[in-house]
Amino acid sequence: MRWENLALESRHDRPADPALFGADAVTTRTFDTPEFAGITFHEVRARTVLNRVPGASRMPFEWTVNPYRGCTHACVYCFARKTHSYLDLDTGIGFDTQIVVKVNAPEVLRRQLASPRWHGDHVAMGTNVDCYQRAEGRYRLMPGILAALRDRANPYSILTKGTLILRDLELLKQSAAVTDVGLSVSVGFTDTELWRTVEPGTPAPERRLDVVRTFTEHGLGVGVLMAPVIPFLSDEPAQLRATVRAIAAAGATSVTPLVLHLRPGAREWFMAWLGQHHPHLVRRYERLYADGAYAPRWYQRRITRQVHELAQEYGIGPAPAGMPRRIRPPEQEEHAPAAEEPTPTQLTLI
Ligand code: SF4
Repeated sequence: MRWENLALESRHDRPADPALFGADAVTTRTFDTPEFAGITFHEVRARTVLNRVPGASRMPFEWTVNPYRGCTHACVYCFARKTHSYLDLDTGIGFDTQIVVKVNAPEVLRRQLASPRWHGDHVAMGTNVDCYQRAEGRYRLMPGILAALRDRANPYSILTKGTLILRDLELLKQSAAVTDVGLSVSVGFTDTELWRTVEPGTPAPERRLDVVRTFTEHGLGVGVLMAPVIPFLSDEPAQLRATVRAIAAAGATSVTPLVLHLRPGAREWFMAWLGQHHPHLVRRYERLYADGAYAPRWYQRRITRQVHELAQEYGIGPAPAGMPRRIRPPEQEEHAPAAEEPTPTQLTLI
């Protein structure tokens, strides 16, 4: 393994900094519990954990902290898969089961935040792999990371599919009292059959929406990244409606749809999965993604417009103070006239 390359910050496909770890910094562990069966952890001591996003990136943030590499959530479509190849690790099952853990991330971050060269920029987390994946239950790196950011009143954001984030509710509230904290939960669809096969290591969509509900009850606004919308599997109007409705019912402050994209690394793994589970769709995917990693613009625009309209219909956005959100029960939905006055909508679209 090329451990010296662990500094590569992956969604951006370029090195952020060379040679962060020496080979002697790696400790490999397995845990004899059902939760971690078949999973190998590579513990490393990072020299730095604040990673600057390369200038050419289209990401709307400049700095990231990623305490893990690889992700046991094992989403078939995960576009961070390719980054495992930088470590000479497999981008398929290896990405799901070979997890790199920066065990000293909290103390290194605290030191870096205290540096006179640090100017308190926004820090994004969960942008590479999920910082609340199962490993976090054992390594507990995020409490130290959040405490370091809170103590410096440093603004940050987190994107996750992990319900484990609820463990850190108090730290998040403390942070939100002193700085800007952006919370986003990823829920692309609510179809449980699809979830079981395509996101096999994640908490169920409904449990993720419980996270939104709980944070909302505690006064923390949460946006939902409706990602990915999977062509021909989760994009039927009724499916989009069910998902947006559930997101609204959970109290999300925004919904941002994102159509599946298939970059190298993820593409091969996803297409193999598709061939196994939905072979009749393989030709349609080859046509839809014939021009590269992204679905055609007309398709993306169609999904965005549909989700936009549904979000407006269901009044996604902060509920007025003291007013409970009114969401029609599903059984009334087919018959109810669309006459309800929509509440103000806050819909964020990247
Ligand atoms: S939770 Fe996110 S990082 Fe983890 S496998 Fe799924 S898409 Fe990838």
